[in-house]
Amino acid sequence: MERHDPECIFCRIIAGDIPSDRVYENDTVVAFRDIQPVAPTHILIVPRAHVPSVSGLEDADTVIAGALLLAARDIAASEGLEPNGYRVVSNVGDWAGQTVYHLHIHILGGRQLGPMG
Ligand code: AMP
Repeated sequence: MERHDPECIFCRIIAGDIPSDRVYENDTVVAFRDIQPVAPTHILIVPRAHVPSVSGLEDADTVIAGALLLAARDIAASEGLEPNGYRVVSNVGDWAGQTVYHLHIHILGGRQLGPMG
């Protein structure tokens, strides 16, 4: 499976071809601030590999799956979200409102968040 899509906006951000406000990166994931934040802190964590969504993860992708959550933990701490709490969410497909088909986790925080759904 091809794990880079030159047409994908997040692949292009990872490659540095499109600017972003990058806040974190390691060998497996990159994180940057959402361009249209819906909370005072709104960060996206994406795998370097082009995976379309959670549903596109393969059984062998345990490092990617784990790295996304561990990055969320570390970014939440570094952004000062720990004391009050924060939300970690990934939209999958049309009914969830996914607009970019490169797997990403949203970290939302900095205000009281409403109920999901
Ligand atoms: P989703 O709707 O769950 O697929 O989330 C996609 C997110 O990507 C949205 O919150 C967008 O605001 C965000 N987004 C789209 N383009 C960019 C970009 N160039 N830089 C940062 N965030 C982006």
